[in-house]
Amino acid sequence: MALLISRLKYPLAALEPFISERTMDCHYNWHYLTYISAANRLIEKTYYHDKDIRKIVSTAVGPIFNNAAQAFNHDFFFSCMIPNAPLIPSRLSEELKRQFRSTDTFLDAFLNSAVSNFGAGWTWLTMDPVTGKMEIRNTSNAGTPLSDGLCPLLCIDIWEHAYYLDYQYRRNDYVAGFMNHIDWNFVAAQYDECLKTFLRKDNAG
Ligand code: FE
Repeated sequence: MALLISRLKYPLAALEPFISERTMDCHYNWHYLTYISAANRLIEKTYYHDKDIRKIVSTAVGPIFNNAAQAFNHDFFFSCMIPNAPLIPSRLSEELKRQFRSTDTFLDAFLNSAVSNFGAGWTWLTMDPVTGKMEIRNTSNAGTPLSDGLCPLLCIDIWEHAYYLDYQYRRNDYVAGFMNHIDWNFVAAQYDECLKTFLRKDNAG
């Protein structure tokens, strides 16, 4: 069972002018698909060949990890964006307020973390399914919160290939544009899933 390619939920040009069709074409049709096909080639005839991508990413190391994690991270990132951003669903905004003082404090902190993430990597909002604690964290290269047993809720790709054609060195403008194109319904769905795991553990003792 090979890893499957996730289709984008919007056309390549739909995020313009925030992200150009050309950038999305390179990013989705070349970078993302290359990670998927490399991961599939590498897992063939190994323990991982029939495992689900989250299981592979959580346990593999080396080239299998790098390619599977990049496939997962990109799929997640593309799902975090939408042309017309909805409002943050209240159950999620209440929780962001509780954990970060206000949603604006959270949004500022996420933006600053992404802008200052050194080199190539990712910036995430994560939730710990054991403690329920949310956290903004940066990872480098293919790094993913799945490796630490955390639920990813939101992420931005800050590898230069994600924005350099459109923004060159102006990463802050790219990140600011991203903040206006977040699919909060997707983020809230990730929060709901993680909350289920948290509540199950809580009830179990
Ligand atoms: Fe990327």
